[in-house]
Formats: sequence, structure tokens, C-alpha cells
Amino acid sequence: MRLANVNGRLTTFSGGQLVDVEKASEGRFPSDPQAVFERWEEFGRWAEGISARGSAPVPDANLGAPVPRPRQVFGIGVNYRDHAAEANASVPDSPVVFTKFPTCVVGPSHVVQVAGETTDWEIELVAVIGRLARDVREEDAWDHVAGVTVGQDLSDRTLQLAGPLPQFSLGKSRPGFGPTGPWLVTPDELPDRDDLALVCRLDGETVQESRTSAMIFPVPALVARLSRVCPLLPGDLIFTGTPAGVGLGRSPQRYLRPGQQLESSIEGVGDLRTRLSGP
Ligand code: ZN
Repeated sequence: MRLANVNGRLTTFSGGQLVDVEKASEGRFPSDPQAVFERWEEFGRWAEGISARGSAPVPDANLGAPVPRPRQVFGIGVNYRDHAAEANASVPDSPVVFTKFPTCVVGPSHVVQVAGETTDWEIELVAVIGRLARDVREEDAWDHVAGVTVGQDLSDRTLQLAGPLPQFSLGKSRPGFGPTGPWLVTPDELPDRDDLALVCRLDGETVQESRTSAMIFPVPALVARLSRVCPLLPGDLIFTGTPAGVGLGRSPQRYLRPGQQLESSIEGVGDLRTRLSGP
């Protein structure tokens, strides 16, 4: 199943058509895309009944974030070896965790304003929690994940690296710095939920290319680790880290400019296009 936020309304797909969930369910499920995660299992049974599978073209619609108001947004630092190397960081022996404050989360239709001269890109698989997770074992972790979407962990490197200690959370939370979408995809639709190709292109030029199987801590390890510290709530997001190829790791360094388009693609999940503007 795929879910989208079309003009602010929870939408799924069946038989190559868009399905407005509130209308099709005759009000059983509300139109608010965030509300569905509180009743995820019940919703899944209903969606099976209408054969919600595949996707469809979305006509000239305002596509919001598939998960518009998560209560918690976790970010994972240096979760790919090649990115650790380009960041001159050692390979971590437990996940490096920060938060993206939830107000930064936007959808594909949002035009993101670059901040100063050092706004950087980071393509990431984003896992969405579908069931309360507390002290979850790795082997049970996927049962707590509603699905995945494509994300960009945009970063203001000047803000991130200013001062005596890095400010990851603040530098990655400017308005619009958490683009996600276009849809949430349930794991059963994926060719292999633990091994998906990801590619990030800037104005058509490939800048990052890897596979999610290269993560140091894959999705189940992240859910297990985080859930031992904080309860993971339905509708929370985990940005699972980025592979090599970010602007900070280049020589010379390279950053996003107004007018550019970032295209983030994950196999079986979708293509997230993000337009960039100036102030
Ligand atoms: Zn990141």
C-alpha cells in the first residue's frame, strides 16, 4: 500500500486510481494524514478490503508530507562507512542520534529556502513508526514500522558546526529542511526492505548513490536501539542516515543554490523532487 497527503487529505491508491480515504471509508477514517498511525492495524485491514496497492499519477495536486506532524523525528549520523570517511569521523559502535525538530518536515510541493551559502543535501531512507515500540528486539522491529518514505536531511553546515560542539539538531531543523515523500510505502510493496538502491541528483547530476544494505545500523537495529531509550510513537520518523557524496565532503565543498532542483530516489519507494529558492 502507498499513502500520500494530497491537498492535506489522506489518500491511497487502488486499481491505478487515487482513493480519498475519508470518502471511501464513509468517515470511518478521518482525512488527516497524521491520524491514521494511531489506528494503523485497523487501517491496514480496511485497505486490504479495497485492494490498496500500487500507485497512480497525481494530477497537479499539492503534495504534503505523508507524515505531516510527527511527535518525534530521529536523525542518525554517520550510518554509512563511506560517509563516515568523507566526514573524517570514525565508524561508530552504536548509533549516533540527533533530532530534527518536527517543524522542519515538509512535503514534495514545498519550495525550500536555502540558508546562506552552506545548505547541504543528504538523501535518506525514512522509517515511519506504526506501532508503539518499547524495548523492541531487532527481530521484531519491522513489525513496528508502518512503512518508509524518501527524505532529505538538509543541513545548514555553518550553523551545525559553529561553536565548541556541533549543533546537529539546530543546523538540520530550519523551516523546510526535512522534505519527505511523495508517499509512504508499506514494506510488503518493496523488492527487499533491507536492500534498496538510493540515488540523489542535483539538477540531473548524480551526487550520491548507494544501497540501504550498506547502513552500519539497519532499520531493525535503529528501532531496537532507540526503543530501549525512548518509546517510539505511532507516526514518529527515523531519518536513517546518508551515504557519501554530500557537499561538505567534497573538495572544493559544494552547496545548494536557489533555483536548483534536488531529486532523491529510492528503489520501490519513489522520487522526491525538491525545488530550492532564495530568501
Ligand atoms: Zn543525515
